[in-house]
Amino acid sequence: MGILVQKFGGTSMSTPAAREHVIRHIKRELAAGFSLVVVVSAMGRKGEPYATDTLLDMAVQNGNALPDREKDLLMSCGEIISATTLCGLLEQEDIRATVLTGAQAGFLTDNNFGNARILDVRTDRILRELRENKVVIVTGFQGQTETGDFTTLGRGGSDTSATALGAALRAEMVDIYTDVDGILTADPRIVEDAKQLSQVSYTEICNMAYQGAKVIHPRAVEIAMQAQIPVRVRSTFSDAHGTLVAQPEGFSDVQNGIVDRFVTGVAYVNNITQIAVECPDGNGTGVQLQIFKSMADNGISVDFISVTPAEVLYTVNDDKSEQAIAALQELGLRPRSLSGCAKVSVIGGGINGVPGIMARIVEALTAEKIQILQSADSNTTIWVLVKKEDMVQSLRALHAKFELHR
Ligand code: ADP
Ligand code: MG
Repeated sequence: MGILVQKFGGTSMSTPAAREHVIRHIKRELAAGFSLVVVVSAMGRKGEPYATDTLLDMAVQNGNALPDREKDLLMSCGEIISATTLCGLLEQEDIRATVLTGAQAGFLTDNNFGNARILDVRTDRILRELRENKVVIVTGFQGQTETGDFTTLGRGGSDTSATALGAALRAEMVDIYTDVDGILTADPRIVEDAKQLSQVSYTEICNMAYQGAKVIHPRAVEIAMQAQIPVRVRSTFSDAHGTLVAQPEGFSDVQNGIVDRFVTGVAYVNNITQIAVECPDGNGTGVQLQIFKSMADNGISVDFISVTPAEVLYTVNDDKSEQAIAALQELGLRPRSLSGCAKVSVIGGGINGVPGIMARIVEALTAEKIQILQSADSNTTIWVLVKKEDMVQSLRALHAKFELHR
C-alpha cells in the first residue's frame, strides 16, 4: 500500500469531539495499510482562541505595525498548536507520530510573505519518518525561504500544502476533510438544497474555486491536476467518501471524455466595486492604456473588463476602490463607481456554444427583479455582477433555474 495524505481543516480540529473524528479517520486508514501524512490547519475560525485570524487580531490590536515577515511567523503558530495537539492525542492511543513544520517537511518557497509560492518540496525527511512507521503530521499553510525565514501560503493554503505533498510523494490519494459532505452545486450555507456532486473534474472544481467556492483552494486543485493525483473532498464527521476530484476518464457518468452535465454549480465573490470611465470624445485610444497601466502601477488587480471606444468598465475589490478612483482622478478622468457588488457565476464545462444559456440566466434574474449590472462569459463560466444585497437571491434563482438540486 502507498501513501495517503489526509488534510483536516479548521473546524475539523477545533473541538475535542471533532478531533475524535480525526483520530478515527487516521486509525481506519492505518488499519487499511496506508502510510499517512496528515496536514492540519489552525483550530477553528476567527474569534476562537487559536485560529489564525484571532492571532492576527491580537497583534493588530496592540497597535503593532507588524512587518510581513514577522506576521508570517505569528500566522505559523496556529498550525503548530493544532499539529502538536493531534500528536499528543495519537501518542495517547499508542500511535507513533511526529510533527514537522512546513520547513521541516521540506516546503521551499519564495519570499512573498503572506502569499508565498511553493518552489520545491524536499521530501527526504518525511520519507525517513514514514519508514520508521510514524504518522507524519505536517503543519499546513507554511513554508520556508532559502534563507530559513518562515512563510505562509495565503488563504486556504493548507489545501495547497496537502496536494503539494500528495504530488511530491506520489500519494495514492489526497483526502481533504472539512465541515461539509463534499463539493456541492453551491455553498450550502446560502443555497439550502445544494446537491452533493459525487465526482467532478479538476477543471470544473478549479473554475468553481476561482469563482469563490472556497471549499478547496484553486491552487491546490491545479497542483493535483498537474500530478494527476486524485483528491477527495469529504466530511470529517462521517465515513462517506465525499466528492472525488479526478480526470473525467475515470468517471462513471462520462461520455467521450466529457462529464454529462453542462452546468456544474454556482458560486459568488462579494465586496466588489464596479468602475466606469467615459472616454473623452467617445474615442478610447490612449485613455484605455492609461487606465490599465495606472491600475497595474498601483498594484490593483482588475476583473470583469469591458472596453468600448466610449467607455471602460471594470471591477476592483472594495478595499482597493478608493485607491483606484484616486489614481483615475490623477489622470484627469472622472470615474463613476458602485461599491458593494457581488460577482455571481454559473460554472460548467458544457456551457460553451449551448444556445439560450444567457437567456435563461437573464430570465431567472429578471423574474426576481434583480438588476444585472454587467455580464461576461468564457467557455466554462458566465458571470453576472449584481448588488451585494441581491447575491443570495441571485444564487438561489440560478441554482433553481438550472435545476441543480436534481
Ligand atoms: P476548512 O476549514 O475545512 O478548510 P472551509 O471553510 O475552508 O473549511 O471550506 C468549507 C466551506 O466551504 C463549507 O463550510 C461551505 O460553506 C463552503 N463552500 C463554499 N462553496 C461550496 C461548495 N460549492 N460546496 C461545498 N462547500 C462550499
Ligand atoms: Mg479551507
